[in-house]
Amino acid sequence: MASRTFDPQLLETMVTRALTSWNIPERHIGQEFGVSGACIGNIRRGANHKTVRPDLARWTRSCEGCGHRRQDSCSLGFPDPEEVGPIQAACECSAYLEAP
Ligand code: SF4
Repeated sequence: MASRTFDPQLLETMVTRALTSWNIPERHIGQEFGVSGACIGNIRRGANHKTVRPDLARWTRSCEGCGHRRQDSCSLGFPDPEEVGPIQAACECSAYLEAP
């Protein structure tokens, strides 16, 4: 299947929206830009367009994979996993520790 070519500015806007719109489903963002939800999911997980907005974290982390996670909460006492969800919390957390 041929891949779609985006105007660089539009691509940057799409990647920014995909990586910063935590509460918006992938398919909704995809509809805004005329692509599939899977395309947005690939951006979020770092499978596509990794070189666009490299300053924004890809959604490859989760508190569930952090060495500071104990049962259902953060052992450091950060409320973020419960407030914003484990993926957003881990992507924005400077204390994230890759579990062994
Ligand atoms: S990523 Fe941060 S908030 Fe999440 S469990 Fe680890 S230390 Fe706690």
